[in-house]
Amino acid sequence: EPEDEVLLADWEDDLELVPEKIPPVLAVVGRPNVGKSTLVNRILGRREAVVEDVPGVTRDRVSYPAEWNGREFTMVDTGGWEQDAKGIHRRVAEQAEMAVDVADAVLFVVDATVGATATDEAVVRMLRRKKKPIILAANKIDDFHQEPEAAALWGLGLGTPYPVSAIHGRGTADLLDAVMEELPEQSAYGGLVPTGGPRRVALIGRPNVGKSSLLNKLAGEERVVVDDIAGTTRDPVDELVELGDQTWRFVDTAGIRRRQHMAHGAEYYASLRTQTALDRAEVAVVLIAADQVISEQDVRIVQLALDSGRALVLAINKWDLLDDERRKFLEREIEQDLSFVDWAPRVNISAATGWHKDKLVPALETALESWDKRLPTAKLNAFLGELVAAHPHPVRGGKQPRILFGTQVSARPPKFVLFTTGFLDPQYRRFITRRLRETFGFKGTPIEIGMRVRE
Ligand code: GDP
Ligand code: GDP
Repeated sequence: EPEDEVLLADWEDDLELVPEKIPPVLAVVGRPNVGKSTLVNRILGRREAVVEDVPGVTRDRVSYPAEWNGREFTMVDTGGWEQDAKGIHRRVAEQAEMAVDVADAVLFVVDATVGATATDEAVVRMLRRKKKPIILAANKIDDFHQEPEAAALWGLGLGTPYPVSAIHGRGTADLLDAVMEELPEQSAYGGLVPTGGPRRVALIGRPNVGKSSLLNKLAGEERVVVDDIAGTTRDPVDELVELGDQTWRFVDTAGIRRRQHMAHGAEYYASLRTQTALDRAEVAVVLIAADQVISEQDVRIVQLALDSGRALVLAINKWDLLDDERRKFLEREIEQDLSFVDWAPRVNISAATGWHKDKLVPALETALESWDKRLPTAKLNAFLGELVAAHPHPVRGGKQPRILFGTQVSARPPKFVLFTTGFLDPQYRRFITRRLRETFGFKGTPIEIGMRVRE
């Protein structure tokens, strides 16, 4: 039993919750032809039409990173839907609604030369239900003489109509100032994440796979033991370990070092420990003993790590005990039993000799980088657009579900939501997940794809 040096540490310092930094989202809604695309282009400072006729999602919805007075935001344009004579009112409302759902504020564009139509009024009713801040743009006010037409839009009951000319740029600065007043600093999708302090690692695996040996090898003489309450032997106990040029926090190491002599309930206790370690960690290293057949218990622990939503690294330990024949079987077992985490970085190590122990840090870094990763909405939708164009969803019962728009709603781990016109087949969702990984990596992190279906 190694001697533990107990130091004081303030947990709260490390586990501070801070908002994730995601720029706020502005949805631009309005009837066709009121000038939404022109206005979006104007705000982006571009000349070319933003709504290109690309089949798939990009036709339905496009989002762009924008900036005003040094503040970043994401603009979601709802232009480009088909002019369906019968269902136009419904379709407009549907499109607008989806954009509004993901937005922090709404820029409602009306053609002031036409005035408020029945469709405009339907959109207003929907917007009110959503209870998001609304900025009203009275477009096509190309010169001063038309301003009374903008004033008529007070009648919509949305407050000040900002007279603008998307074509000439007239009034857009005032409009954007008003938009920035309504947008929050961060997207409401950000959520709170624990941050600060060294990154937290859980070493897990069934008894005797070498967790304690690996910790000793990594920590060497220089380990620092951290307890939540000074002078007690109460769990959990963490250790701060310098690896590479970083400090890492190995969580719940008391349970790793203390050998359990309980015959009864040992496994239950071990899995409880595994769970609490995972709860407190950001990345899990699951150790597996290379010299033994991969067991159900191994697979269960990998599954626990996966379910916890933490980043994941597989460490195949006791590599020094392998002979050629065992190695052949081992590779086959990994392929068969652990294929559900084939995206996890894998390191072959020997905790006993220290062989390859320097491979662990790069694997941890890769996994955490993926876990933290946030795909810009524009990039995600460009990807989805191409994917859907090349591989449309199969027709089911005469209907073909379409993906209208996707957004990453959170990170750690990355979670995506797809807005669709019908339920996507599980195979199709798996296909999207696979392509998402192929295209953007996400090595070492679970990813989740949810759906929001509009019938
Ligand atoms: P969207 O369907 O709402 O995206 O509308 P577009 O941006 O495609 O514009 C529809 C039409 O209105 C186009 O012919 C534009 O040139 C025209 N338009 C857009 N903004 C203005 C404007 O400020 N003044 C005038 N006169 N025409 C505009
Ligand atoms: P834990 O229960 O997962 O913490 O496993 P331990 O670290 O206590 O290791 C269990 C046994 O495996 C001990 O006898 C270790 O010396 C041995 N062991 C751990 N890692 C290795 C390794 O890489 N190679 C060999 N040959 N033995 C190892």
